[in-house]
Amino acid sequence: MVRWAMAIDLEKCSGCQACVVACAAENNVPLGSPQEATMGRLIRWLQMLPRIEGEYPHVRAEVIPMMCFQCERPPCTYVCPVAATYKNPQGIVAQIYWRCIGCRYCVNACPFTLKWFNWFQPRWPATMAEATNPDVSLRDKGVTEKCTFCHHRLQQAKDRTRAEGRPLRPEDYRPACVEACPQGALVFGDLDDPESPVARLARSPRAFRFLEELGTQPKVYFLAATPEA
Ligand code: SF4
Ligand code: SF4
Repeated sequence: MVRWAMAIDLEKCSGCQACVVACAAENNVPLGSPQEATMGRLIRWLQMLPRIEGEYPHVRAEVIPMMCFQCERPPCTYVCPVAATYKNPQGIVAQIYWRCIGCRYCVNACPFTLKWFNWFQPRWPATMAEATNPDVSLRDKGVTEKCTFCHHRLQQAKDRTRAEGRPLRPEDYRPACVEACPQGALVFGDLDDPESPVARLARSPRAFRFLEELGTQPKVYFLAATPEA
């Protein structure tokens, strides 16, 4: 079975946030209001983590795209009392919104703080409300959500390749953020294929994963930017 994974090359990422916009549009992530922003209640399946190194005048700043790391051993799923968050047969950690009782155990169990709770009823400006993606469920107030590697696109890819009468190839399925990145900084594919681009990058000496010592085995790898001379 394919083990879907992502590698993010921080050397290539320019911080343009095309991936952030593509993610929100693809997955019906609400914009949120200024009041929600002030309260720290915005929902961002994909967000930029700012990182600043050094001291003036030798300062280096970068942003790191962060989304659910799709842990191999996901603690968020172990604590859900109603199995509303689970690892699906394709190995992707997903949400069943109508089951969620809003207890937020999973939000607290994620060591990377990459799950989001709908404190408010999501709203869009009228023109945008007409353009929501029909392939992704809208979520209500009181429900938890997060990045799913756009797993609806995997189903679309399966349907497409079945209609074409050929087997699914890993390159048939790409999340919206990967497709949108103008720098090619986000690479997606099968971690179990040692020759795949994502597996090669995961073996790079520049590769690291966040909080690896916790043993959750994230399937999102980062490639450190090389310091400028
Ligand atoms: S990153 Fe957080 S939300 Fe995603 S699978 Fe791991 S523990 Fe769960
Ligand atoms: S907030 Fe929802 S998904 Fe998370 S643990 Fe509670 S019921 Fe499960």
